[in-house]
Amino acid sequence: MIAVLGSANLDLVVTVDRAPGRGETVTGRTFTTVPGGKGANQALAAARAGGDVTLLGAVGDDEFGRRIAALLTASGVDVSGLAVNELPTGTAHITVDGTGDNSIVVVPGANGTVARLTDAHRTAIDAAEVVLLQLELPLPLVEEAAAYARSRGVRVMLTPAPAVPLPPSLLAAVDVLVPNEHEAVLLAGVADPVAAARALAASGDVVVTLGARGALRVNGATTTDVPAFAVEAVDTTAAGDTFAGVLAVGLAAGLEWPDALRRASAAAALSVQRPGASSSMPDRGEIDAFLAEA
Ligand code: AMP
Repeated sequence: MIAVLGSANLDLVVTVDRAPGRGETVTGRTFTTVPGGKGANQALAAARAGGDVTLLGAVGDDEFGRRIAALLTASGVDVSGLAVNELPTGTAHITVDGTGDNSIVVVPGANGTVARLTDAHRTAIDAAEVVLLQLELPLPLVEEAAAYARSRGVRVMLTPAPAVPLPPSLLAAVDVLVPNEHEAVLLAGVADPVAAARALAASGDVVVTLGARGALRVNGATTTDVPAFAVEAVDTTAAGDTFAGVLAVGLAAGLEWPDALRRASAAAALSVQRPGASSSMPDRGEIDAFLAEA
């Protein structure tokens, strides 16, 4: 099983020709709402890829929370560990301008109330082969979860996003760190992503994702290239979350690293060919078919 301890948000997305300046009102073009949050995204990607997945976190007692839970359930994610509490479901207010640049305000809401590890969280972690963490829940909780999983011999995978300086004790409890190149550079304080990955690999495996250039796995003194599949990308939203979720499924199933990384790359390559986040994540059959033809 894969226990994802992470955020669930509703993304409220407007497109505009030009983002408003201070005090200004502009007319938007479109408005869409789509379930998101890195925890929910990774849980969905993992479940679609065939993983047995539980999402631990919180939503509000509101329409947004019910919509997120329904989508997760329909994809086979166990949401019994997704608490429903008194604050509203987290929201991300996203403005995408005519050049594709975006600005985002995140209101954590219910996500911010998941402050301590509960007995239910511990029970789920005990039953897991892999615990998948990101940094959209309070940092002390992430630290507590990583330390607990480590103490129970459960593999800890962390996507360090959004990038914030991490306590060394947290990094030391992580078995597999999966940053993108910006996060790797910021965490290591080294300008080159490869050197950054090497610096971060002191305590475990580091897999740095490099967008269309693929990824790089660093384990001790060994660096392995993970080539990207050549595809026509239309929207790279959640490519990293798809990669991380599917990598977790492979590792939880006992695949060797090269096979687990290849499946993660294939799933991410499929996701970038379709718009959106959850709407773009492939299922197990699609990943198998894509790899059979590659
Ligand atoms: P990123 O989060 O952008 O670093 O992307 C995560 C993973 O998605 C990469 O390691 C690739 O495997 C895959 N990926 C991202 N962008 C592309 C692309 N344009 N073409 C193929 N694969 C991609």
